[in-house]
Amino acid sequence: MDSVRSISQDSGLPRLEAHMLWQHVLNVSRARLIAHDTDALAPEAVASFRALQARRLSGEPMAYILGYKEFMGREFEVGPGTLIPRPDTELLVETALDYLQDRLAPLVLDMGTGTGAIAISVALGAPNAKVTATDVSADALAVAQRNAQKLGAEVEFLSGSWYDALVGHSGFDLIVSNPPYIAAGDPHLEQGDVRFEPMLALSDGVDGLSALRTIVQGAGARLKPGAALFLEHGWDQALAVRQLLQQAGFARVASLKDLAGIERVTGGIYNQ
Ligand code: GLN
Repeated sequence: MDSVRSISQDSGLPRLEAHMLWQHVLNVSRARLIAHDTDALAPEAVASFRALQARRLSGEPMAYILGYKEFMGREFEVGPGTLIPRPDTELLVETALDYLQDRLAPLVLDMGTGTGAIAISVALGAPNAKVTATDVSADALAVAQRNAQKLGAEVEFLSGSWYDALVGHSGFDLIVSNPPYIAAGDPHLEQGDVRFEPMLALSDGVDGLSALRTIVQGAGARLKPGAALFLEHGWDQALAVRQLLQQAGFARVASLKDLAGIERVTGGIYNQ
């Protein structure tokens, strides 16, 4: 007899992943799933599970199969046109929220927002902030807009490449971004979940620093004096990003470590 337990055991998937797929198929909580894991299953449920199992076994990320990913304790819709939010990026959001803490009505810009995870988390965590978010991908912006609506965040979304998206917007108190920062040809692009994510969101197609460079070099013209820029970057890019910021007139330039102890976010204060 087919049950959640018997099929999961032979599924070739870790138990937690099999259970997440079953929860999706049966639309039940994990507690209920486990309490009933020897019940007989309807053949349609088994067929639905088999289809998802095959996708997972072929390497597709759980987040794309389920259609969502948790970030900062909230569920964000994800799609093939968006990067999947990473736990690493919570450091960028927490840094932004710390910075915004004693500001009255700050203007915040998130560049290359993808699912909107950063912009929406900042808007919800700093209700006095007015948050603007950009993306060059129409697919990503549609996902981000739905996420903002579902989560009750007010974010202004603009379409376009980096600063081209801004029409007369400047005077920001804070700019944040998690841009594509993997260099072309990096073997990491051929591994795991990353293989299924949009290349545009992962790699700049060059040395990994070109989007970071564009953002740093254009920031001064859009920031108030004394305002901040915080960027997420790759494990070996902190020094390069600190130098870019210093060359562009930023002071108090510093890098922060993620939970794995890797310098993951670098920022500074614009003082010209
Ligand atoms: N942190 C992601 C990874 O290493 C890359 C995200 C990005 O390029 N912004 O898979």
